[in-house]
Amino acid sequence: DGVIWLDGEMVPWREAKVHVLTHTLHYGLGCFEGVRAYNTAEGAAIFRMKDHTDRLFRSAHILNMKMPFSKDEINAAQLSAVRDNNLDEAYLRPMVFYGSEGMGLRADNLKAHVMVAAWEWPSYMAPEAKELGIKVRTSSYTRHHVNITMCKAKANGNYINSMLALQEAVSSGCEEALMLDNEGYVAEGSSENFFILRNGVLHTPELTSCLEGITRQTILDFAKELNIEVKERRITRDEVYVAEEAFFTGTAAEVLPVRELDGRVIGAGKRGPLTEKLQTMFFDAVKGRSAK
Ligand code: PLP
Repeated sequence: DGVIWLDGEMVPWREAKVHVLTHTLHYGLGCFEGVRAYNTAEGAAIFRMKDHTDRLFRSAHILNMKMPFSKDEINAAQLSAVRDNNLDEAYLRPMVFYGSEGMGLRADNLKAHVMVAAWEWPSYMAPEAKELGIKVRTSSYTRHHVNITMCKAKANGNYINSMLALQEAVSSGCEEALMLDNEGYVAEGSSENFFILRNGVLHTPELTSCLEGITRQTILDFAKELNIEVKERRITRDEVYVAEEAFFTGTAAEVLPVRELDGRVIGAGKRGPLTEKLQTMFFDAVKGRSAK
């Protein structure tokens, strides 16, 4: 039950449907966001909503899809999706897609539609993963889609390799995949950015092979506050094996320690002190317990 915002109206959950000839279903051109609302002292609050809306509009612009709504309307839609479904902790999924107005690859007969759904989202991983860290496997699937569709767009078609990578990791007894770029450097997780701590410096791949993550930026802001040096640069796989700490960041994964990659224990094999500090700052921020 509940409601979904679709093209400007709240529609009952069961009636928010698309036709089988929906263009995006066939060719994959579309873009979306993953956004979280947290229960704070002032009720449900959407974390960095405007940043997510801005990225959605940048994604649509990159994909040359004409947004039929303003940013204010999409922000209001997200707030209503949480409120009208009586949620206080929620995952939100705004999406821009082409409808069933036309087929074929010329986009001049197509119309962009927008929907925003919100639902209760339990933990992405087992709750203890946040403390103990997870086991990760380097994927045989590269993040090459990013090179085609670019890393500034959170585009539907970018997730084919991510899905295959995650399935491969899970079927080999790991919890997440670490994907490399076409040249073999570390890119990101299936839907998370990646950080390592090495010699006291925080390293994260530069924005040529991974999504411009909003949680990633939040962590970069925290590192600045803590006066921790950050290097955005290419990271090799073996650097991860010998890192002091490693973690993923993302709207779904939040700040998730990595304790093992490809069977090599990372650091002390558990959540490191900096990861823990950044996690605390992150949860304080999303829960509205600090200035951010
Ligand atoms: N990388 C990919 C491929 C993603 O899909 C996501 C999730 O949105 C991220 C990284 C993390 O980005 P954010 O922190 O904005 O959720």
